[in-house]
Amino acid sequence: MNALQTSIRPSTVFDHPEMSDHEDIVFVRDKRTGLRAIIAVHDTTLGPALGGCRVWPYDNAYDALTDALRLSRGMTYKNSLAGLDLGGGKAVIIADPRKDKSVEMMEAFGRHVERLAGTYITAEDVGVSPQDMEAVARKTEHVRGTSATGLGDPSPYTALGVFTGILACARHTFGDDGLEGRTVSVQGLGHVGFDVARRLHEAGAKLVVSDIHAPAVLRATETFGAVAVDPAEAHMIEADIFVPCALGAGLNARTVPQIRARIVAGAANNQLQTPADGEALKKRGILYAPDYVINAGGVISIALATPGGNDARVREKTEAIGDTLAAIFERAAREETTPERVADAMAEERLAKSGKA
Ligand code: NAD
Repeated sequence: MNALQTSIRPSTVFDHPEMSDHEDIVFVRDKRTGLRAIIAVHDTTLGPALGGCRVWPYDNAYDALTDALRLSRGMTYKNSLAGLDLGGGKAVIIADPRKDKSVEMMEAFGRHVERLAGTYITAEDVGVSPQDMEAVARKTEHVRGTSATGLGDPSPYTALGVFTGILACARHTFGDDGLEGRTVSVQGLGHVGFDVARRLHEAGAKLVVSDIHAPAVLRATETFGAVAVDPAEAHMIEADIFVPCALGAGLNARTVPQIRARIVAGAANNQLQTPADGEALKKRGILYAPDYVINAGGVISIALATPGGNDARVREKTEAIGDTLAAIFERAAREETTPERVADAMAEERLAKSGKA
């Protein structure tokens, strides 16, 4: 037996710290292609479980299970608050996307998704390319975000949602959503960050930008007349709004006391390192837009992009993120709690109210 086979024992799956009310956890193995995957269906109360497929060289199967359990649960909350009639799921493939992945492996994964008969709907995530998803789609119809079913790259919709969310934050904090002359620090100028910066620029904001990739910074300074800063200092800028669009865990015990903006609202996933960091933001009077609420535009576009996908419907639902955030902020103020706690509660309330639970 190798380390992967010995590292999961039946009792540890049910006792796993990330195990909550997961409905199905499927361990997949395809000898011919070397596929080893875990598909976790967390909750199908609102509909089939939608969540991406991640290909990652996990050290062992236990770590892969941890990720699948945690991420699938996160998708239940995200899809619920995005107003989608979809549950939460996630798949992880234990492989190095650069060395181990093959067309045959992705097709084998598609066959296993098909076996779940629509309980789980897959899509792209880290380590998966559009070509990989085309291979999956040859074996199952339970896939989103392919050229046949999609509206293409979800990033512009994520950016639209983030921008709409920033406006809601501004209304709550400043009393109006005019961004003319406001200083905004955008950290990370990739697919989402650059598009958010463009929208902010068009709304008249003064941009401070940062990225570890120098050409991205140059493009932003040239296109928007933005001021460039060191990415490590992006949160310390004396700005009205800080927009994290790089990696997660950027809000932590070291950075939160250094933030000078009144609002933190960006696309990055898992921004708070711990719940205590959310509390610390609240204590400092900084409004935080819960990440999985404000960055849901991408999943909305994937969910609603069926053949002949309708851009107007996706936009409408994405723009509703602003109203959801406004409701979250009002309730958080009333209940003297943090926005992320209210977001979780609202997601759970929608599940409970659906009557199917
Ligand atoms: P991306 O890879 O296109 O861009 C990320 C950018 O951040 C890159 O330009 C990279 O150089 C930069 N970066 C990395 N580390 C940095 C650091 N320490 N400081 C400053 N810049 C740094 O990714 P993306 O698709 O734009 O996504 C951005 C974030 O939004 C990610 O956290 C992602 O998980 C999240 N998100 C994206 C989508 C989407 O539709 N793409 C949807 C939901 C959430």
